[in-house]
Amino acid sequence: MSRIYRLTYPASIEATTPTPIQPLPRLSQHLGGPTLYVKRDDMIGAGLGGNKSRKLAFLVAEALAQGCKRLVAYGDSQSNHCRQTALFAARYGLRCSLVLRGETPHQWLGNLLLNDLFGAQLHFAGKHSCEAVAETLVKQLRADRERPYLIRVGGSTGLGALGYVAAMEETLHQLREQQLQIDTMVFASGSGGTQAGLALGAALLGFRGRVLGISVDADAYTLTRWATDIAFDALPRVGKRMPADQVCIDVNEHYCGNGYGVVGEREREAIRLAARTEGLLLDPVYTGRAMGGLIDLIGKRAFTRRQHVLFWHTGGAAVLSAFASELSDRVVGGEDSTLW
Ligand SMILES: *Cc1c(COP(=O)(O)O)cnc(C)c1O
Repeated sequence: MSRIYRLTYPASIEATTPTPIQPLPRLSQHLGGPTLYVKRDDMIGAGLGGNKSRKLAFLVAEALAQGCKRLVAYGDSQSNHCRQTALFAARYGLRCSLVLRGETPHQWLGNLLLNDLFGAQLHFAGKHSCEAVAETLVKQLRADRERPYLIRVGGSTGLGALGYVAAMEETLHQLREQQLQIDTMVFASGSGGTQAGLALGAALLGFRGRVLGISVDADAYTLTRWATDIAFDALPRVGKRMPADQVCIDVNEHYCGNGYGVVGEREREAIRLAARTEGLLLDPVYTGRAMGGLIDLIGKRAFTRRQHVLFWHTGGAAVLSAFASELSDRVVGGEDSTLW
């Protein structure tokens, strides 16, 4: 796929890259700010897409090369990363164990349902940290000669971040072909792997615009440190040297709202607006939060009308049904249930 760094995606996602770059004319007009485009990484991979597929392409390739037979991942109960790990496991004939935060749920909606359909074994960490439970599980699996491959939070390691170095290369190539100039790229930043890859790719390939991560949870200092560490873990893997200050990790921490996964008015409005004006489905945890931040920045005149902004759609809409009551007044069981 990627010529300069010879980063090859496994077949399951290669067939779906490059993901399209599409204009968002009605949303741009509605907001009255810069011209907006979207990079559709929600369309990547075999099922329901998302940014973790680009990282998993590298991680699962390593797991297969090491002869591992089971993927182990951990995260929030609605984690897109865990769902895409379960998908890759099913695609490559591997077993999958997921350690999810909290107690066993009453309802199996969104990604929980998909994990079950993909045949993953689910463990709920209860009061414990899901990372610690996953580590214990991996030790047990090793003792049972199961050959597990542990994937760290969000797949955000130097190896995983290569997926977004390659994504930046793919995108810059598309922009050249489409003769499109982008001033700022905006995306949701969580565990920092996507941001590390994009920022490193931008530095290596000479992208002159801004690469702006909207934090969904962590403060700017913490997220910058994570992303920087991941970028410098990735750097030797692309066979390059570069001074630290050339990789620019640019984080906006002002849109974390009431915390991870807590849907506020900003996310709700952004999701409804993108769906209504462009038929674009965003999610409440990541892309809706980042779009809400972008909309607020446009309202504050952070961009000129002549500028071009590329929004990375990193996936996540698979969780929408699990957030029905936060996103719509019309849910069954709510006061307006007669509307159905
Ligand atoms: C995980 C995720 C992100 C954040 O990616 P990181 O590499 O963890 O920063 C953004 N959007 C969606 C939909 C995600 O699932």
